[in-house]
Amino acid sequence: MTPMAIRDPSCDDDFDHASLTCNEAIERILAAVEVVEGHERLHLRAALGRVLAGDIHSPVDVPQHTNSAMDGYAVRAADLPTHGTARFTVIGTAFAGRPFDGAAGAAQAVRIMTGAPLPDGTDTVIMQEHVASDGAAITVDGQHQRGQNVRAAGEDLRRGQRVLARGHRLGAAELGLVASLGIGEVDVTRRVRVAYFSTGDELRSIGEPLGRGEIFDSNRYTLYGMLREAGAEIIDMGVVRDTREAVEQALREAAAVADVVITSGGVSVGEADYIKSVLAAIGQVGFWKVAMKPGRPLAFGRIGRARFFGLPGNPVSVMVTFQQFVLPALTRMAGAAPRPPLTLQARTTATLKKRPGRMEFQRGMLARGADGVLEVTPTGDQGSGILHSMSTADCYIVLDIGCGRVEPGSLVDVQPFTAAG
Ligand code: AMP
Ligand code: MG
Repeated sequence: MTPMAIRDPSCDDDFDHASLTCNEAIERILAAVEVVEGHERLHLRAALGRVLAGDIHSPVDVPQHTNSAMDGYAVRAADLPTHGTARFTVIGTAFAGRPFDGAAGAAQAVRIMTGAPLPDGTDTVIMQEHVASDGAAITVDGQHQRGQNVRAAGEDLRRGQRVLARGHRLGAAELGLVASLGIGEVDVTRRVRVAYFSTGDELRSIGEPLGRGEIFDSNRYTLYGMLREAGAEIIDMGVVRDTREAVEQALREAAAVADVVITSGGVSVGEADYIKSVLAAIGQVGFWKVAMKPGRPLAFGRIGRARFFGLPGNPVSVMVTFQQFVLPALTRMAGAAPRPPLTLQARTTATLKKRPGRMEFQRGMLARGADGVLEVTPTGDQGSGILHSMSTADCYIVLDIGCGRVEPGSLVDVQPFTAAG
């Protein structure tokens, strides 16, 4: 081990050449993970949030029948006047789900509702607002085009066409899309199994009394929330005490049952920080420092077949490092393609304190300025223990590694939270 590699990564110094950049870290992580094996067939509703294991092709034309896009009258375009008006006799009505049985001939119209199949002989729909009607007949002027207000069979999807590709995550729109094809079950990759625990002698669970210097374990709750949102199968292993033996035993147990093991805390080089040395002893350390704030001590490696993420202990660091590094890995392992977070530019309303040396993820709130330009305001104190900043904020203000203090009015990169994963 070089002296560089054992420097304390949690202190507040700046450039540290043993740290990876965020991009290098993400690349290394993505290169080291692959899609989990195994898939399952689920009812459509149960597949919400899951990733398709195979392509979905349309078994039908959508729509199946040429139908009306409007409430009005179906006619033959050949009968429409080029100038003046024309009269059509109304011979019946077509409803959605109750088609008109006959066929329309010359100068005949069928009253038609939105979604009703176009009656035989007709090819054009005149909106009801555009006709004069006396009940038995309608009068139409020369302002209409052949085929107007008609939805052609197969115009949405053609039979046999690939509708969704393997790797697509099923959201609400996809459930509807698949249902519109009459498909009730889909093949999805199995959930990625994630085991996690918190480390720290100071941690107490909710309901336990707090002694001097003790705090409630919040990281297992944010991790639970983020893992649920990511669609993972969750194995919560509780709080593990700061002893080498306890950490080693918990890591071995977790790695035996999970695809991914996540810990929080104990990853810097304090006297009670055993994560990295145990990882080196029972698995492999890929890297353990990233030039970012919050979250510099961040261990990535493997234990047996499981991938391992040792997140820092500070609550904000846990969320930032999960979103930036763990989420793309889980996405890939679930069979989908990770996408970089949407990054926009906004004008900062306040000074942003920063020193060059690490990429920072400060917490901000977005709004539109008086001149219409997107503006961002930092949430205040940016300490990595200030979890309420994550609740107040709706975006990260992402400041590049080399950038220093930013003056009000400058443009900065922001990542809106809703688009972060
Ligand atoms: P560590 O990385 O273990 O040195 O922890 C860094 C800071 O995060 C310390 O102030 C810890 O008390 C705090 N911390 C660690 N784990 C948790 C947790 N599960 N919930 C809340 N705070 C934590
Ligand atoms: Mg600790």
